Amino acid sequence: MKEYLKTVDETLNELNTTANGLTEKEAKERLNKFGLNKLDDPPKEGLVKKFFKSLLDPMIILLLGAALISLVTSIISHDSFSDVIIILVVVIINTILSMVQENKAENAIESLKEMTKATSKVIRDGVIKTVKSEELVLGDVVVLEAGDSVPADCRIIEAHSLKAEEAALTGESVPVNKIIDLINIKDNTLDIPLGDRTNMLYSGSSIVYGRGKAVVVAKGMDTEMGKIATALQNTIEEKTPLQEKMAEISRLLTKIVIFISIVVFAVGLIKTGSITGEHILNTFLVAVALAVAAIPEGLPAVVTIILSIGVTAMAKRNALIRKISAVETLGCTQVICTDKTGTLTQNKMTVVKHSSNNEKLMAQAFALCNDAKLVDGWAKGEPTEAALVNYANYIGLPKNELEKEYPRIGEAPFDSVRKMMSTIHKTPDGKIIQYTKGAVESLLSKSTYYVNSNGDIEKLTEEVKNKIMKNNKEFADEALRVLSAAYKVYDKEPENYDVDYIEKDLIFLGFVGMIDPCREEVLDAVKNCKSAGIRVIMITGDHIDTAAAIGKKIGIITDSSQAITGQEINNLEGEELIKCINEHSVFARVQPEHKTKIVNCLKQQENIVAMTGDGVNDAPSIKSADIGISMGITGTDVTKSASDMVLADDNFATIVNAVEEGRKIYDNIRKVLQFQLSTNVAEVIYVFIASMLGITIVTPAQLLWINMVTDSTPGLALGMEKAEGKLMKKKPRKSTESVLAHGAGASIVIHGLIMALIVICAFFIGQYIETGNYGIYESKDGVTMAFLVANFIEMFYAVSMRSQNNSIFTMKNMNWWLVGSVIITILLTLMVIYVPFLSNVFEFNPISLKEFLIGLGLAFLIIPITEIHKALVRKIAK
Ligand code: ATP
Repeated sequence: MKEYLKTVDETLNELNTTANGLTEKEAKERLNKFGLNKLDDPPKEGLVKKFFKSLLDPMIILLLGAALISLVTSIISHDSFSDVIIILVVVIINTILSMVQENKAENAIESLKEMTKATSKVIRDGVIKTVKSEELVLGDVVVLEAGDSVPADCRIIEAHSLKAEEAALTGESVPVNKIIDLINIKDNTLDIPLGDRTNMLYSGSSIVYGRGKAVVVAKGMDTEMGKIATALQNTIEEKTPLQEKMAEISRLLTKIVIFISIVVFAVGLIKTGSITGEHILNTFLVAVALAVAAIPEGLPAVVTIILSIGVTAMAKRNALIRKISAVETLGCTQVICTDKTGTLTQNKMTVVKHSSNNEKLMAQAFALCNDAKLVDGWAKGEPTEAALVNYANYIGLPKNELEKEYPRIGEAPFDSVRKMMSTIHKTPDGKIIQYTKGAVESLLSKSTYYVNSNGDIEKLTEEVKNKIMKNNKEFADEALRVLSAAYKVYDKEPENYDVDYIEKDLIFLGFVGMIDPCREEVLDAVKNCKSAGIRVIMITGDHIDTAAAIGKKIGIITDSSQAITGQEINNLEGEELIKCINEHSVFARVQPEHKTKIVNCLKQQENIVAMTGDGVNDAPSIKSADIGISMGITGTDVTKSASDMVLADDNFATIVNAVEEGRKIYDNIRKVLQFQLSTNVAEVIYVFIASMLGITIVTPAQLLWINMVTDSTPGLALGMEKAEGKLMKKKPRKSTESVLAHGAGASIVIHGLIMALIVICAFFIGQYIETGNYGIYESKDGVTMAFLVANFIEMFYAVSMRSQNNSIFTMKNMNWWLVGSVIITILLTLMVIYVPFLSNVFEFNPISLKEFLIGLGLAFLIIPITEIHKALVRKIAK
């Protein structure tokens, strides 16, 4: 029989558990026996499959085709198989490299998932513990409150104003009331629709209101979600804008290079007029090698790796990225909208002042209308609530004892729209009492009486209200968070706990002020934002005066007139709204819908907006922001899953660090791009010129070598560059800006051309040294020197690309990855030139020391040339 047709006791008995949950031991045993609570992963591709799949790459097919043709001609003409072997080695190494790269990117994404794994609160050994949702077992009792995701299919065993949103399963986005009661239907064999099973909670839904407990009845693939999960497994990994741009550049260059390769092939044939089989093959091989070398097919993969390395770097700085595209967007952030409590402040509350005519009763109200617990003399729970429990304890009202005298029988939970919470209790003398706590103005608007200075209950006049509000403002101006309390007595239990029904005709008791110190690092972070051209906006549920005082303290605003309440933007639209949002940077007493309004208005003005949120109602504004940020500690599951980034430490400074990291990653990608494309341009030019001249400057095998060794590692090493010093002194880049903006396109062509000319120069110098003549002849020394310079010049160029605009001589950091990759490449180059067997295969002459030094000097020239170019560009930009 279905769980929803069973009573709570029947369900618990059947699962061999109690309302107090399982023991840790039992839970472990069940976990070992029945496995994890998770949906099956889509099947992973095996290594062999991956290997063959990468052989299907057009470049590889081209190379394999060339190898086959070479093989046939070598057999016919009894030639050596060196070309065939070199091509095959290139294919194998290329494939392995790309598999390694892909694997690295995949692992980074896997570990990302690991970091952001969901957790649940569960009762084990009689206490509430937080465990990975994956580790839940049948019979576990989970504790749920507003904002939590339901981790498995559960039967409700306790519910207080519990509401769940089940849109993912039923398509219905209106929250459903959830209860404990048995569902009565006449025919037990009939199924009732999922949306009507009001005593059940299903994995994939979320709690939007209230709180409760529920026992796990189905996990993993057995849940209702699991049944439809196959549809979810086939989600396609989204490409980020940069990845797409790279793929686009790569495709465009492929076309251009293929065209040039065909021209090189045709010119090669026509130029020499010779159409022997061997000559056609040689010319063909040159064209293929050129295509393989000059097409930046690895670029998109390199970008993915740099992005995923960036994700890891951000995680180390407490910013957990959920969507990889956020890494790019972060770099263009223009406005950061941030919560106050916990993000700008420490969320360590302490009551420091009070204003009440009956402090005892007020403290009692605060302690009882409260979900924090007093454990060993210290409060545990949400910081605001904990501060109040500690306060009550301090004045001699320990919550654990109060609770016994005044058991709670009903409640209306806190929400950020009402800014209040109420609980109903039985009193020791058999009466019913309600305590309500919340924002002063909210409570005053629901109160008709107050406790006067004699301790008597008196009508609350406008005059008294004004006096209280004035007093409240004094507290708030000191940057104190103010919370008030009220109460109400009933003869009998109220008919229902609807807020409209119970939260009226209250007796106002007074209020307390709490300090919540600012986070120390926030002052510098706000300063950094200013110099980086990023606007900071504080959006808070707190009182306007508290918000303004804190805003001034940390430098977001300079004057209280730059603070405004959410209510004041209620009726603003169009130009008026834009003006208001541009003139104010502190928004107080904000409701979730105001947040969305602010984000949308900022976005309309083409700002890239980051927005933080924690509560269940913040999900829409987080979704509409360009970068939705949720809180790792205080954030609800619902906001976390709507966000692009999670702050592991809830800290504003972490957002600013992530922006810096995002800027750095973008810079690095641009460096890699410029390096890669310039060297490709150089390759195209020198091969093209050689074919026009009808000579060999670089053989196909050598070109493939250059492609394999020099194009891969230095590019990645550049991606590891540390941030250039002035990263946070620049204005944010426009999100629409091309990756080739700021003259990068022109630099690529100019530098490529210069490098090609130097390589050609090296060839002719080698040729002159070998033959003592100038002229257009084939020359082995020339080829060797050209190869040496082609390799070394790329290395030196990588070094100069450590900064696209600034002199590398002003850089303070060392990039050891680049140093390593340069050393390895130089050693490998020397190896193929000077190790006899390899030098034979590649058709080199082991050149003299003099030639070597000349080559080295020629290659080094690229450094002063690019430095002069950068200096000129800087001068023009000024
Ligand atoms: P931020 O949006 O910057 O995090 P906040 O924490 O003040 O600020 P909310 O949590 O929405 O925002 O709280 C808004 C107001 O509701 C508070 O200023 C306070 O007056 C009241 N409030 C907060 N927590 C409680 C609570 N647990 N019970 C009753 N009232 C509360």
